[in-house]
Amino acid sequence: MIPIHLDGLSKTYGEQPGAAPTVTVDITVQAGEFFTLLGPSGCGKSTLLRMIAGFVSPTEGAIVFGDQDVTRLPAHKRGIGMVFQNYALFPHMSVADNVAYGLKLRRVGGSERKAKVDKALQRVGLSGYGDRRIDQLSGGQQQRVALARAIVIEPEVLLLDEPLSNLDAKLREETRMQIREVQKAAATTAVYVTHDQAEAMAMSDRIAVLADGRAHQVDTPRRIYSEPATAFVARFIGRSNVVPGLVRDAASDTATVRVGDAELTVRRHPEVPVAAGQHVEVSLRPEVLRVVGEADAALHGIVTAKEYLGATAMLEVDVAGSSVAVSTPDIDVEAGTRIGLAVDRRAGWLIPESATGRA
Ligand code: ADP
Ligand code: MG
Repeated sequence: MIPIHLDGLSKTYGEQPGAAPTVTVDITVQAGEFFTLLGPSGCGKSTLLRMIAGFVSPTEGAIVFGDQDVTRLPAHKRGIGMVFQNYALFPHMSVADNVAYGLKLRRVGGSERKAKVDKALQRVGLSGYGDRRIDQLSGGQQQRVALARAIVIEPEVLLLDEPLSNLDAKLREETRMQIREVQKAAATTAVYVTHDQAEAMAMSDRIAVLADGRAHQVDTPRRIYSEPATAFVARFIGRSNVVPGLVRDAASDTATVRVGDAELTVRRHPEVPVAAGQHVEVSLRPEVLRVVGEADAALHGIVTAKEYLGATAMLEVDVAGSSVAVSTPDIDVEAGTRIGLAVDRRAGWLIPESATGRA
């Protein structure tokens, strides 16, 4: 298994001098990792993936597989397997012929080819489907054929561009675990593209959150959720309240921050300095805010809306003019009620970008 280095990799479409790059990144994907490029539509995810594949040429920077610089290598010499959103299967060919396609190009023949096709179909749970026609399969099965076709050549690098987008919600959830299992069994380094944050959280070893042409954060799903590097990440992943605060005091990995009328002790990045008097932003996840009696409350507000979700309810609460989302097991709280909110010590997170002043 090999790592993938994207060194100052940048793409600018068009030829206008001085045009801003669509996307620029410095990222290392570790050997064998399931790595996801996550971001809103149009942020340059497919552009990055296509540069790694060799379908789009970079404007600047380098792509290195292991210790081989592949920046100028054509796609078919990079040893990649690729899966697309629209499957891109040959509809008139059988399942086995579709899967065998890359092996034929590589002149792998006879019994070796058949054995490899059988193994790939087995990996994706389609043993015995080799003779079927593509149009006899469901969308989910077609996507698994596309996955088998990508892994049959035993690629060092597996690239997947929104492969689940055309499936309905339930099938999407079933298939995402299967894709991850296949990737681990095939012992390949994978770069996966999605705009769906829940999908990225569920599948990935690490995620790069992309927006405004850059990576806002490259980290594990847990850290991206609990220690968002920027306000954008906090809001894009799950649901988060990003509230303004004033630093009172800072310790090594916490800070006391005045938020509204309350003083909260929040976690902070130990290497990003903060000083008393500084204006910052704090991320408060809806589930760290607890509905409590007025006497125990750090924050007070009025419930403006309620969404019933089964075991819990999501409240919109007006706290001193800003709207705050609160997840609560107390499903009887009604809109219009005045409530108190408590915040556990260290439950909030001081957004490092707000401390460094980066816009
Ligand atoms: P994503 O996959 O994140 O939705 P893309 O990489 O497809 O984003 O596109 C990023 C931006 O680059 C978009 O603004 C898109 O319009 C633009 N773009 C993509 N491909 C081309 C192209 N071949 N020529 C010009 N602009 C392009
Ligand atoms: Mg795309």
